[in-house]
Formats: sequence, C-alpha cells, structure tokens
Amino acid sequence: MGKRLIVQKYGGSSVANVERIQNVAKRVVGYKKKGNDLVVVVSALGDTTDELIELASQINSEPSEREMDMLLSTGEQISVALLAMAIHKLGFEAISFTGAQVGIITDTTHTRARVIKINTQKIRKELAKGKIVIVAGFQGVALNHDITTLGRGGSDLTAVALAKELKADLCEIYTDVPGIYTADPRIEPKAKKIDIITYDEMLIMASLGAQVMQARSIEVAKKFNVLIHVRSSFSDKPGTMITKEGKKMEGVLVRGVTLNKSEVKIAIYAVPDRPGIAATIFNQLAKMGVSVDMIVQNVSHFRQTDISFTVNKADAPKALRLTRKVASEIKAGEVVEDQDIARISIVGVGMKSHPGVAAAMFESLARNKINIEMISTSDISISCIIKKKFAEAAVKALHEKFGLAK
Ligand code: ADP
Ligand code: ASP
Ligand code: MG
Repeated sequence: MGKRLIVQKYGGSSVANVERIQNVAKRVVGYKKKGNDLVVVVSALGDTTDELIELASQINSEPSEREMDMLLSTGEQISVALLAMAIHKLGFEAISFTGAQVGIITDTTHTRARVIKINTQKIRKELAKGKIVIVAGFQGVALNHDITTLGRGGSDLTAVALAKELKADLCEIYTDVPGIYTADPRIEPKAKKIDIITYDEMLIMASLGAQVMQARSIEVAKKFNVLIHVRSSFSDKPGTMITKEGKKMEGVLVRGVTLNKSEVKIAIYAVPDRPGIAATIFNQLAKMGVSVDMIVQNVSHFRQTDISFTVNKADAPKALRLTRKVASEIKAGEVVEDQDIARISIVGVGMKSHPGVAAAMFESLARNKINIEMISTSDISISCIIKKKFAEAAVKALHEKFGLAK
C-alpha cells in the first residue's frame, strides 16, 4: 500500500491520564512506522471541559460566551502538548498546534462557531518534514483573532473538517467504546455493535443524544463524503464505518435507541390564546441564540393555553430569564422549569414506511409504567419526554421491544 494520510482523533477518555496518553503515543507511532502521514486531533484530558464549565458556573451563571471559549480552549492546549512530548519520548518527531495556529478559521458565534475555512499549508509543511502533526480539537479562531470553540464534542468536527480539507485517505475517531452501538453500551449491556451505519442514521442518533459522535461533524462528513471509522483506542478490532447508503441497511426497522439527559423543560401557563403569541416567545429565544427542541401547546380552555418546550441545559438559565420576561409582557401566567426530564428516542430510516412503530413504542413504555410527558416524531425518529429516573429502564425496554439485541 502506498503512503496514506490518516487523520486520527482521540477523545477525552482516551487521554484521561499519563498511561493513556502514552498508549495513544504508541498507537500513533505504530501508524507512522508503517509509512503513513499522520494528523492527530486530541480532546481535553478526561472530564476537563466539564470541570471548567462547572468552575465558570461558580463564578457566573450566565458567563460571557467569548470568555467561555477562552476558558474551554485551554483544555485541548494541554493535551496536544503532552501528546507531542509522549511521542518525542518514543523517539519520533511531532509538533503540536492550537486551532488558531494551524489556521482553523471560524465565524464569531462563540461556543458553537462555524468553520469558514482551514489553511492547510502549515500542516502540509510539517508533514513534509516527516513530523506527526498534532492539532487541538474543538477550537478555532475568528477573523478578529478571538478564540472560538465548535460546540460540545467539537473535536470530532475538527477531525472531519481536517480530513476533508487535507483529502485524507481515512478519518479515524478513537473513543472509549468499540464503535457505534444499537444503544449506549454503558446503559444497555446487550446493545450490539453496528458494523456500517449511514450518515443519515448517525446524524439523527447523534442529535438525539448518542454523544459518541458530534452531530455537526456528521453533517460535514455527509456533505463532503468523508469516510469515518469509529473505534476503540484500547483495542485493534475494527469498529463502525459511517458512510453513504450501504446494502446492509435494508430491512432494518429501528436502528437504535438514544437517550438525552441534558435537556430542561420550560412551561408557560395561562398564555393568552391569540395569533402571534408563540411567534413572540420563540422569536425572542431565537434572537438570543437559544435553540428550542420539542414544543407542545395544549388544548386551550377559556382562551388560555399552556406552552411547554425543551432547551439544552446549557441554555436553560438564559431561556428561563427571557421566557419570564416575555411572559410578563404578554400577560401570561407562571413560568416553571423542570430539570427532571429525559428524552428517549428510537431511530431508523426503515420506520418511514412502517406504521405502528410509534404505537409499539408507547405501549412498551406504558407496560413499564413509564409516563410520557411530551412526544415528537419525524420521518425516521420518535422521541418521548419522560422522568429522569425512568431513563435507563426505558432504553432497555425499547431495545428489547424492537429486537435490537438479536
Ligand atoms: P470521547 O471522549 O471519545 O469523545 P464521548 O464520551 O464523547 O467520548 O463518546 C463516547 C461515549 O458515547 C461512550 O462512552 C458511550 O457511553 C456513549 N454512547 C452513547 N450512545 C452510544 C452509542 N449508540 N454507541 C456507542 N456509544 C454511545
Ligand atoms: N473537550 C470538548 C468537549 O468535551 C471537545 C470534545 O471532547 O470533542 O466537548
Ligand atoms: Mg466526544
């Protein structure tokens, strides 16, 4: 085989401690020894990003997004430097870069910036010198020189975008599970590894809670047809290929069950029932960059309705503050937050042409005495909001119901 360019990404758990960093260094060097060119993207060590977010929240419950990016981008800067040192120790040449240094240019939407372009000259120059290039995941730089981050799980996006831009032969995502499973294997031990999954199914699984891949990275992979191999950094076994439509997809009704425990429900009671009210509420939220997930408006009594919606936990303080403001302007009643919710979903492109899947899902939850608070459906997914304490039981029940362990 000729010389290949491989982009590898190692997630936080794969570099959680000294031993694991050394393990990653060995793996990288192994690929280098075979004559490949390597660009290695790394996430922050272990739970560093979560810890930094927690630290910030102790200082300010609604911190400036620019400053959050300054803070969170430090995590990845630590890991790239340590990995470079570990590779040097093995006698190989490596050089680490931040997103800004390597030329990952983004817009200025702090905490979830979009990649505008990537300058690859610097990487190519170092590769040509025979060096292993290590790039900090999850970060970029705006044209005004401000540091930005690409949203949670954003190292996946860094890897996919680099693979596309460098025309890499392969994009490998190394994580702490052996691949993509029919459900989170940490919740459902009977979950099965999926050998090949389409971009569309992975995208929807990711956006409904399977954090093993960042949803945005899959959008980019799909758009530019980047072949992704998700696999374990602790073994050499093949993992899951994420690709265009594959033959194996046919006949599969439900592909997987996903869980998202990081949403919060906000309910506004006694909302005046007249045209334009929903628009007023959701316009305000959109203007402040809060994206709303599920929305339910109940039957109106006496010209009043209740409106409930879910937002990501990170946006909840802002969403609550804005909603309370709008509620008082439109003379609605109380605004209540509920953190005790989980979103359970089933996903599969095969569901399109099969009636009765929703009924089967509701029936399975009912049999397990799990009450459904909200429902939303699409062509290829059905989601229910339930109480957090039932989350794991619901994953198992639905996994069983749709025969995913077989
Ligand atoms: P990394 O640090 O490597 O980026 P993440 O924590 O972001 O790792 O993603 C890996 C985790 O995703 C796994 O440990 C697993 O618990 C979780 N996960 C959720 N759903 C799935 C799924 N369907 N298949 C595999 N892993 C899943
Ligand atoms: N460290 C970042 C996060 O935890 C990026 C990543 O891990 O992909 O979200
Ligand atoms: Mg991740």
